[in-house]
Amino acid sequence: MVQPVTCELCEAARMTPWHHEDDICWVADCEVCDVPMVVWKQHSPTPPDDALEHMLTHLQRVADERFGSGEYKVDRVMRQIPDHFHAHARDPNWWMRRFGGVR
Ligand SMILES: [Zn+2]
Ligand SMILES: [Zn+2]
Repeated sequence: MVQPVTCELCEAARMTPWHHEDDICWVADCEVCDVPMVVWKQHSPTPPDDALEHMLTHLQRVADERFGSGEYKVDRVMRQIPDHFHAHARDPNWWMRRFGGVR
């Protein structure tokens, strides 16, 4: 019996605005964190170097426009979905926004 796809990155529901899409990856706002996130189009935690570089380039381009160059950190820790590569660009205030500290 084939397992149904339950990976939300593979399902790629367009719940939030998408900033970029190509054959390798897409960049959208993370629904949970409200920061840009790049997602690989393959379900695997370990992209080859060229794909990794491609994805981080697109993530940084989006994040540079959003936060300004150097105003954010690329976070490659995959807490929620450890078996599918994705990375966040987090500005210093994302945690406050996330938990309602900013009014
Ligand atoms: Zn996946
Ligand atoms: Zn997130």
